[in-house]
Amino acid sequence: MCVEALGFGMTSAPSRDPVDIARFTDMKLSDERLAAIEALGWEMPTPIQVKAIPAGLDGADVVGIAQTGTGKTGAFMIPALERIRAGEGLQVLALCPTRELAQQVSDDSVALAKGTSIRSEAIFGGVGYGPQIKALEDGFEVIVATPGRFIDHMQSGRVDLSKVGYLVLDEADRMLDMGFRPQIEDVLRGMPRKRQTMLFSATMPHGVHDLALRLTQDAVWIEATPSGTTAEGIAEFFYSVKPEKKPDLLLKLVMEPGWDQVLIFTRTKAGADVLEGRLRREGIQADVMHSNRQMKHRTRALERFATGKVRILVATDVAQRGLDVEGISHVVNYDVPLDPEDYVHRIGRTGRAGATGNAVTLVTASDLGVLKSLEHRLGRSVDKIHLPEFDYAGTPQTESRSAARRGRKSRSPHGMGSKAAAELTPEELEALLNPGS
Ligand code: AMP
Repeated sequence: MCVEALGFGMTSAPSRDPVDIARFTDMKLSDERLAAIEALGWEMPTPIQVKAIPAGLDGADVVGIAQTGTGKTGAFMIPALERIRAGEGLQVLALCPTRELAQQVSDDSVALAKGTSIRSEAIFGGVGYGPQIKALEDGFEVIVATPGRFIDHMQSGRVDLSKVGYLVLDEADRMLDMGFRPQIEDVLRGMPRKRQTMLFSATMPHGVHDLALRLTQDAVWIEATPSGTTAEGIAEFFYSVKPEKKPDLLLKLVMEPGWDQVLIFTRTKAGADVLEGRLRREGIQADVMHSNRQMKHRTRALERFATGKVRILVATDVAQRGLDVEGISHVVNYDVPLDPEDYVHRIGRTGRAGATGNAVTLVTASDLGVLKSLEHRLGRSVDKIHLPEFDYAGTPQTESRSAARRGRKSRSPHGMGSKAAAELTPEELEALLNPGS
């Protein structure tokens, strides 16, 4: 088994990496597809697309270790659309962990199928059955589904899997984490044996590795982003803060210049509601998105955020994957995520496809254990910023001295790393508090 590690390579700066030389026009794609890709404004394939599209076009199975933001959807959907024909029933089935991701992948499929009669539908729970039943009865060629609702349709005898020759498991690690293994197995039992399988996963724990080996044959393994690392172009900041000072610090930060579109993650749904209320009381427009909110509210919140009508979205991890909004300037971990993988996925919402972004994490004294496991996972230590009025530990001279000795590890745009605030000149402090100025 050969895993091709591609690194990131997604910055807009010219790169001498040979994988960047490939163009979509070198890839034996149909004219309609090339036109659709051009209409999307995709000028060059991303590294994972460079490897996965030709392999997929050749009929090979692909295992992609890639997180959202690497262009993985195009990597599996472009060959899928090239290999099917309109009017011949359901031929591509993509399974995704969340509703938001299913909708996003289906939207990408519609955009990439532009100029052809290939139809795609997203199927997920929490919404009416009508359009989904119609899409299945009409033999839409591409279905992108969450496993639970898809099984409902299968059990009601509405799904004909006999012509599905292309199966995608997207974010396989997340699907297993969410307990979808039995549903995935049920779908697999109904699938033709002869088929092409594309499995994409941000991480490759044993369960996913075993699934990949079982489901694919002679697969091309491609690693776009080393597991557990964060994307290039994202500057990370960790603020030391007393728990009771968190709302004040957040309010201060979101009022700073450059904080244009902000996605804030909280650990709990109640926490998200409380924070949204606080922001609104301060006259800052914000929406909230979590699984206790009705689907229509979630969709509306997402739309308002994506179109820039509201610049702050407070969410629990429901938004972590599949939330594909361009131009998120800041992702805030209002609570340090308990699972280090969640940190990687959350902050992947900013710095999408080569853009730059900022990830800000609020760290209280009780988070230090969790922070240790995050540092372990990232393979590097992170330095905290200590602002005297919010800091949980006063001015921690020890840490700031050792940080100064170690040199800067956090990528502060001002080159100040974790100098204690007391050590900064007034100009440095001002620059730190107003990064856009
Ligand atoms: P994904 O990793 O599939 O979620 O894609 C992340 C973002 O990158 C989406 O907004 C895509 O529209 C965008 N994207 C995918 N492929 C390309 C490409 N070749 N060039 C520019 N943007 C892309």
